[in-house]
Amino acid sequence: MRIETLSIFPEMFETVMATSILGRARQRGALEYVGHDLRNWTHDNHRTVDDEIYGGGPGQLLKPEPVYEALDDLLKDAPATVIIFTPGGEPFNQAMAEELACAQRLLMICGRYEGFDERVYSLAHRQISLGDYVLTGGELAAMVVSDAVCRLLPGVLGSDLSIVDDSFSQGLLEYPQYTRPETYRGQQVPEVLLSGNHAAIDKWRRKMSIIKTAELRPDLLAASGLSEAEIQKALEEE
Ligand code: SAM
Repeated sequence: MRIETLSIFPEMFETVMATSILGRARQRGALEYVGHDLRNWTHDNHRTVDDEIYGGGPGQLLKPEPVYEALDDLLKDAPATVIIFTPGGEPFNQAMAEELACAQRLLMICGRYEGFDERVYSLAHRQISLGDYVLTGGELAAMVVSDAVCRLLPGVLGSDLSIVDDSFSQGLLEYPQYTRPETYRGQQVPEVLLSGNHAAIDKWRRKMSIIKTAELRPDLLAASGLSEAEIQKALEEE
């Protein structure tokens, strides 16, 4: 997969895209990353990307011309799924990460100031929000989406199995997990996990996934497609 970002702060991506799983994915060739500076598509000495807002009001808006011209250049030889980050977009989630992981090329456009001139949004295939809050810019959103998408690419994680049980992959939160020591400050690792009985461990994990989801995210449980009987059984066994 190739991920490209268009931003007035391309330097913000350098560490994140070179570190840990993302960095290794790039070294192995599973991920290609290119950060573009929106100011490269300006034509004045100050490399101006923003302007005042028609009708008045505080702040500045990102002008349409640099974004349109950047996309003219960047998309002339190959298509891409174009994403614009905005608080008004579709809320980002695991299902969306899975869809985006199927793309060959993602081009992510990051806003700043009060956002973009309205005519820019029609350039995007998807408008994505990280959640119901306002960030100062779209760069962090692009990093979050890159990270969530990249770990789904084949061969990027140590074991492709590790994403199967992840929270949200099957509509539930992940079951509780433990490592050594067996007892820590009076808290014991559940006996079943030490038993070596894999059928019993799988059963326990399924039950605990349901219980944890019911406690922390009952909204997910309602949408999980699980039967009322299975949910009740898990909760009664708690
Ligand atoms: N005035 C805009 C509004 O109220 O919708 C907010 C602009 S925000 C200060 C600047 C940029 O940060 C946006 O153009 C967008 O790219 C990014 N941004 C802010 N909050 C975001 C969120 N929740 N999800 C994704 N991007 C966000």
